[in-house]
Amino acid sequence: MSIEQGLRRGLPLVICAPSGAGKSTLVGRLTAEFPMEFSISCTTRKPRGNEQDGVDYIFLDRDTFIDRRGLGYFAEWAEVHGNFYGTPLKPVQDRLAQGKDMLFDIDVQGAAQLSLSLPEARFVFILPPSLEELERRLRGRGTDSEEAIRLRLANARSEIMSSHWFDAIIVNDDLDTAYDQLRSFYLASTLQPSLQPQLARAICGK
Ligand code: 5GP
Repeated sequence: MSIEQGLRRGLPLVICAPSGAGKSTLVGRLTAEFPMEFSISCTTRKPRGNEQDGVDYIFLDRDTFIDRRGLGYFAEWAEVHGNFYGTPLKPVQDRLAQGKDMLFDIDVQGAAQLSLSLPEARFVFILPPSLEELERRLRGRGTDSEEAIRLRLANARSEIMSSHWFDAIIVNDDLDTAYDQLRSFYLASTLQPSLQPQLARAICGK
């Protein structure tokens, strides 16, 4: 193991995107190429389809979520579409200390909070080429009602308009180009000095 690998803390990488921007495909490619772990969120929404407790989410009832929130259990939390979602802080801190890079799939309000509890986190926003294209993709999926599509488009517009503070913005027009950009950003972010506070001393022998 090299000095860099031995001493580096894990990178928290936060990826936000309006639904339909192609986030799942890009994240799937990144996790297939690099050893990263997903942060498993808690949620008060009910499991969907094949979702498993402790794998896709930790499913909690509302009272338990609120109790844990009061105890400072979450690195960030948000209410999305009427349900609570939150990132447990302790498991994330433990994995980062072990040098594991962690991926966070959270909404924009949660991401802004996470920048306070995990200052070394890096934030990527994935955009569709236009709102018209996003609407076309959402309709093409055929999974959402007209009302849900309208809501998603309105949410997408306000998220995109408040995306200026992210570290990187990637427009997913061509998938291969977007993936190259995400990959490059991830690799560059793992080199940030704050993840390797002991490196200089280790090299200089003091
Ligand atoms: P879904 O219910 O479709 O799995 O997720 C709905 C939204 O909640 C998505 O935008 C997802 O990124 C967001 N989300 C999932 N987990 C968390 C979390 O721990 N914190 C926050 N702030 N948002 C989350």
